[in-house]
Amino acid sequence: MQGMHKILSKGTAMQNPILVLNCGSSSIKYALLSNDSSERVAGLAENLGLDTARIKHTDLNGEKVEISLAGANHQWALQKILGLLAAYKPVAVGHRVVHGGREFSHAEKVNDHVLAEVKRLKVLAPLHNPAHALGIEAVEKIYPDLPQVVVFDTAFHQTMPAKAYRYAIPKDLYNEHYIRRYGFHGSSHAYVSHRADSLAPHHQANGWITVHLGNGCSLTAVYDGKSLDTSMGLTPLEGVVMGTRSGDVDPSLHIHLHRILGYSLDQIDTILNKQSGLLGISGISSDMRTVEQAANEGNEDAKLAIEIFCYKAARYIASLSCALPTFTGLVFTGGIGENSASIRQKILQNLPHFGIKANLDKNAELSRGVEGSFHQADSLLQLWVIPTDEEYQIAKETKEVLGL
Ligand code: ADP
Repeated sequence: MQGMHKILSKGTAMQNPILVLNCGSSSIKYALLSNDSSERVAGLAENLGLDTARIKHTDLNGEKVEISLAGANHQWALQKILGLLAAYKPVAVGHRVVHGGREFSHAEKVNDHVLAEVKRLKVLAPLHNPAHALGIEAVEKIYPDLPQVVVFDTAFHQTMPAKAYRYAIPKDLYNEHYIRRYGFHGSSHAYVSHRADSLAPHHQANGWITVHLGNGCSLTAVYDGKSLDTSMGLTPLEGVVMGTRSGDVDPSLHIHLHRILGYSLDQIDTILNKQSGLLGISGISSDMRTVEQAANEGNEDAKLAIEIFCYKAARYIASLSCALPTFTGLVFTGGIGENSASIRQKILQNLPHFGIKANLDKNAELSRGVEGSFHQADSLLQLWVIPTDEEYQIAKETKEVLGL
C-alpha cells in the first residue's frame, strides 16, 4: 500500500489517457496510455478467485508494487486497478475481446446489444468472451459514465474473401451455425502491417505476410492494409505450431483417438490446445527460450520441435503468398518473432524459392524491442522485425470509435 501512494502522487498529468483492458478467466492485463501513447502505466492482476490473487503494478517511472488481494474476483480487482489509476483520470476504456463472430468488422462502443453479443459469442470462445463480459460489467458498475469500447481480435480479418474464410463443408453449417474461419491476433497484425507500411519505402500498395510468433502463433496476408487470409480459423487452434497448441492436424484425428484410445472430446481438446506444440514435441517446455537452450545442448526432441515449428511457419508463408496480389515482404513479431534471430533464420532457410536474401548480421541485431529491416538490397522480399503493440492499437481504435 505504501507504493500505491507514491504512484498516485506521481505523474498525474497524463492527457486524456485511455485504459486498455485484457480480461482473462483468472487475470486482467491493463495499461493506461497517454493520448500520444508515449507514457504508460501498466500491470497485471492474476490468480483471481484464489488466495494468491494479486496485482503487479508498474507506474510511469518504472517503479513496481505488488498488492495482495486474496480471493478477489474480477470486480474487486478492477475496483483496485481503477483506484490505482484514478489520479490519471482515464477518459475511456478499450477492451480486447477475442471473438466478434460474423457481425463485428470493427471496434464498437459498448451498449446493451454489443454486450449481449460478446456474451452470446461464448459459443465460439468459451474461455475468453465470458471473462471479457465480466470486465465490461465490472467497469460499468464502478464508473457508469466511463465510455467503453470493445476491440475484437477477429475484426481485422473480416476483410477476408469467402474463398479464404469458408471451409469446404456443407453450406448450412456456415449459414445456420456460422462455421467459418475468423482469424485472431487482429490488433497485432493490424499494428505491425500498418507500421511496416509507414516504414517501407513504397509507391503502391504493399503486400505483407505478418508472422506473429508468441505463445500463440499466427500469420496473416495483408494487402493495402487489409487482411486477405490468415492461418488461424474458427478457433485459435488452426494453423502453425504454437507453444502448447498443435496447429493443423488431420481433422480425422479426433475420431481416430476416440476409436483407438477411447479419449473423450474434452480430453482431445486438452491434448491439442494444452499439451501439444513445442511442449508436445520437445517434451520439455512450451517456452521457445527453454527449447532453444535444450536444442543447443544437443537434445534431439528439442531440435525436432524447432525444425517442425520453423518448417510449418515457412509452409504457411508460402501458401499465404497465394492471397497477395504483390508480395512486398515479411514482418516478424511476437516474443519469438521479435527476439529470436535463429528462428527467423531457420524459417527463411525453409523458403528457398522466393529470392530472399537476409543480412545475417542485421538479423542478429534485432531483438529486445529493436525495430528494423534485415534484407539485403537485392532481396526480392523485404524482411522486417516490428515489435507488436496491441495496447497502442486498441487505444487508437477506442479513440477512433469515440471520436476522441
Ligand atoms: P504471448 O503470446 O503470451 O503474448 P509472447 O509474445 O511474449 O507471448 O511470446 C512468448 C514466447 O516468446 C515464448 O515462447 C518465449 O520463449 C519467446 N521468447 C521471448 N524472448 C525470446 C528470445 N530471446 N529468444 C527466443 N524466444 C523468446
